[in-house]
Amino acid sequence: MPGLHTENLTKHFGDLVAVDDVSLSVEAGELLCLLGPSGCGKSTTLRMLAGLESPTDGDVYINDEQVTGQPPYRRNSSMVFQEWALFPHKSVLENVAFGLKMQGLDKAKRHEKAREMLEVMEMSEFENSSPPDLSGGQQQRVALARSLATESPVLLLDEPLSNLDKRLKEQMQIELKEIHSQFQRTTIHVTHDQDEAFTIGDKIGIMNEGRLVQVGPPREVYNNPKNKFIEEFLGETNLVEGSVTQVVSDGVVADIDMQESIRIPLQDHNLATGDTIHVSIRPEIIAFNAATAEVDSVRADGSHSFSVTGTVENLLYRGSAVRYYIDVGDISLFVEQTVRGSSVDEGSNVELQWKATDLVCFDQTGEKIQVES
Ligand code: ATP
Repeated sequence: MPGLHTENLTKHFGDLVAVDDVSLSVEAGELLCLLGPSGCGKSTTLRMLAGLESPTDGDVYINDEQVTGQPPYRRNSSMVFQEWALFPHKSVLENVAFGLKMQGLDKAKRHEKAREMLEVMEMSEFENSSPPDLSGGQQQRVALARSLATESPVLLLDEPLSNLDKRLKEQMQIELKEIHSQFQRTTIHVTHDQDEAFTIGDKIGIMNEGRLVQVGPPREVYNNPKNKFIEEFLGETNLVEGSVTQVVSDGVVADIDMQESIRIPLQDHNLATGDTIHVSIRPEIIAFNAATAEVDSVRADGSHSFSVTGTVENLLYRGSAVRYYIDVGDISLFVEQTVRGSSVDEGSNVELQWKATDLVCFDQTGEKIQVES
C-alpha cells in the first residue's frame, strides 16, 4: 500500500495564492482528514494530488515516486468529488461497476462487487435507477460506492458526505471508518465539518489561507492547538482578549474584563506588562453553580483554582444540552449542562470555577503560550 506526500506544493490563480507551500505526508494505509474553512485551499490541494490541477510549484509523490506531471489515470488514485460526476445514462449498478471495468474485471465479478458496495451504502434497491432520478444524497452515496468499489490504493474524497442529512451523515461516517479499517487504503478526506474529521481521521490536517497549519492525531490537535486560529476553529470556546497587568514568578496576572483579574501559570513566555493575551476558557473546564459537588471537587484538588460570580443572562436549549450564557463583569461566558442535570434559571447568580492550569493561552500574534500543567 503506497503512502503519499507533497513537497512545497503551491498553486496560484493569478494573484491569488490558493495553496501555499504545503508539505504533507500520509502514511500508507492512513486516513488523513483535511479540514479548514471555506476557500482555504483544501479542494485545490486534493485536485493537485489527483492530477486534475497542475501545481505552480512543488511536487506530489505516491509511494515515493514523483507523479507531479502525470495525468490522473497514471496515479493509482480514485477520487470522489463534491459534484459526483455520475454518468446520467447508465444505471446505478453500471455507474458503480464502471471503475472496475476500467480495471479489467469481468462483468459477473464487477456486478457482484458493485452490489456489495451498494448494500453498504443502503442503495441496493436503486441499482436499476438512473442517477438523475435520485436525490442529491443518494447520488452522493452512489459516487462513494463507485470509488470504494475500485481497488485503487489511494482514495481522494472531496466532501463526500456534504449532501447527506444529519442521521445518514453520522451513519456514513461510521461506515467509512469501518471500510477504511477493513481495506486500509491511503485516504485523504476533505471536509469543513470538524465533527466528521474527528470521527473519521487517523490524523487531521488543518488548513488556513492556503497553508497547512497543523497536522496530528485528532486528540493531540484538540488538546494542543498550535495557535489561536486552530483553537477558535476547532472548539466552541470562550476566547477572551485581555492585557497583562503583572508579570509574576510563575506566569502572569491578566485583566480579561471580568470583575477580578486572573492569574495564569505559564512556562516560557516573553510577555511584559501591557501586552495583549488571548485566553481560551473552554466550556468543559468550567464548573458552575456553587451547590454542585462538581464545583467542590475543582476547589479541592487545584492550587490554582479560580472562582468568580456571574449572572445567567440567557438559556439556549440545544438538543439534549442547555447552554447558559453567563455575564461575568464585562464579558459573557457560555457553559453547558445536560437538560436533565440543568439546575439554574435565567437571572440566577451562579459561581463559576476553573483551574488556571486548564486555560489555553495565546500571545498577541496568536501563537500558543504553554500553560503550566
Ligand atoms: P470549500 O470548502 O469552499 O470547497 P476549499 O478549502 O476547498 O473551499 P478551494 O476550492 O481549494 O478551497 O479554493 C481555494 C481558493 O482558490 C479560493 O479562494 C477559490 O476561490 C480559489 N480558486 C479555486 N479554484 C479556482 C480556479 N479554478 N480559478 C480561480 N480561483 C480558484
